[in-house]
Amino acid sequence: MELSIEDKKIISDSIRDIKDFPKEGIVFKDITTLLNNKEAYQVLMNHLEARYKSYDLDYIAGIDARGFIFGAALADRLKIAFVPIRKKGKLPSTTVCEKYELEYGFDEVEVHLDAFNGDKGARVLMIDDLLATGGTANAAAKLIKKLDINLVEACFLLNLTFLEGEKRVSEHTKVYTILDI
Ligand code: AMP
Repeated sequence: MELSIEDKKIISDSIRDIKDFPKEGIVFKDITTLLNNKEAYQVLMNHLEARYKSYDLDYIAGIDARGFIFGAALADRLKIAFVPIRKKGKLPSTTVCEKYELEYGFDEVEVHLDAFNGDKGARVLMIDDLLATGGTANAAAKLIKKLDINLVEACFLLNLTFLEGEKRVSEHTKVYTILDI
C-alpha cells in the first residue's frame, strides 16, 4: 500500500530543513513541524495503520528517540505492543547491545533482554523517522535478530537515498520508506 502523491506532498511540506544543525554542513530534517500539524500527522498515521494492519504484527520496535513517537502511536492504533531500542545507558534492566561506527568514533544501541517477553517467533516492525547511512538501523536490526525475533520490515518516514543506508538495512529485512530524498 503506497501513499497518494497528494498525501506525500502534505507530509513532505510539513517537514522543515534546518541548515547546519547539529553541526555545519548537515541539513537537519525537522519533524516537529509534522507533529504539530494535525492534518499531516493524521495523514501519516492513517497511512501507517492502513499499510501495517494486515501484517499480523506482534510488536513495533521504535528507535531512540523520534522512532518512539511514530512507533508508539502506531502500536496503539494496531492494538499491539511497543519496544524501545535505546541509545546506550538508558535502559534500567539487563540489555543486549550492538556497537556501530559513526563518522568519528562509535555509538551503541541496546534493548532489554526480555523486551519481547521471550516470544521467539514474534513478528516485529522496526521504525525510525529517518534513514541516513543506515548505521543506527543496521545495529538495531542486528539487536532484534540476536533475540531470535522475526523482523518483518523496517519503516522510515524519510530516506536520504544518496547515503545508501537502505543497502545496509536490507541485508537484514525488507525496507519501506515513505519519502525518498
Ligand atoms: P544513520 O545511522 O546515519 O542512518 O542516522 C540515522 C539516525 O540519525 C536517525 O535516528 C535520525 O533521526 C538521525 N539523523 C541522521 N541524519 C539526520 C538528518 N539529516 N536530519 C534528521 N535526523 C537525522
